[in-house]
Order: sequence, then C-alpha cells, then structure tokens
Amino acid sequence: MEHLVYPSKGLSEQAFEKREVLFETWHVKAEYAWDTGVAIGKYLAELKEGRIVGRRCFKCKRVMVPPRMFCEHCFRPTDEWAYVQDIGTVKTFSLCYVRWDMVRLTEPEIPAVIDLDGASRGMGIMHKLGAVDSRAVKIGMRVQAVWKPPAERTGSITDIAYFKPL
Ligand SMILES: [Zn+2]
Repeated sequence: MEHLVYPSKGLSEQAFEKREVLFETWHVKAEYAWDTGVAIGKYLAELKEGRIVGRRCFKCKRVMVPPRMFCEHCFRPTDEWAYVQDIGTVKTFSLCYVRWDMVRLTEPEIPAVIDLDGASRGMGIMHKLGAVDSRAVKIGMRVQAVWKPPAERTGSITDIAYFKPL
C-alpha cells in the first residue's frame, strides 16, 4: 500500500525526514519473461552465429535491419530473410568523454550509426567504434565488425564488440 500526499511544490528530503509526507515502502515481487518475437529472435540468434540478418520487402525492395515482419512503408508483411555484410559506413558519430555511469574518460567512447552494406538507406544500426584514433574518425569512414569469440556470444548486439576501420 502506498499513501502519498503530494504538496503543491516539489518534494524535498526534509519533507520525508519530518514525516510531512506519509509513505510506506514494500518490495515488489515481479517475475516476468520477455519474448523477442520472430524477427528480433532470429536477428539475435544470427548475431550469436556471427551473421547479421534483415528482412526484405518485395514491394518497396528495402532490406530492413534489424528485421521486422511487417513493412511500415507498404503496410504488408515482409517477404524473406536477407543477410547483410558486417562491413559498413559511418553515418554519424559522437565522442563521449563521460561513461554511462558518469565516470569521466580521457579516451572517448565513440558511439556511431553505421550503414551496413546490403541494408537499405536509413537502416543504420547504433554501435560503437574501436581500435581507432578518435581524431581520425570521419563520417563516411568504412568500418568492419569485430566479433567476440563464439564462446562469449550470447545472442545480443554486443556479440559485436565494436566496429574498427577497414
Ligand atoms: Zn515495403
């Protein structure tokens, strides 16, 4: 049970300490499973095998990565699986000097959008660049996936450790 009285302005730590705000805490026991669905399930299974798969729509001829079972342009189901290259082109990138947990970095992380060869325009995937001097990274740079060893892959986009310059 939760009893919250919201004051007209924001809550302060003091309000909690002085018990001006009434509350109880409890532990939620939430157990759940998440199904990835047909398209993303296959995408992740193929990543584990070191391959990148998309879906082709026969009508608009697009190859979509990550794959989807329905074409949002044509309003119809997609038609077949289509493997794309693990080589691509840097579409855009950023130099991040702060890690996800707010630790300051001297060498930046380089998140990038990468257009994979064989995928249609606008299908860039988000990943990161590595084994590269951050000052040398350019839009249009050709890059290739560096896969984790098969035993370390889990069926995740992180089965690709990073993309490095070709
Ligand atoms: Zn289509």
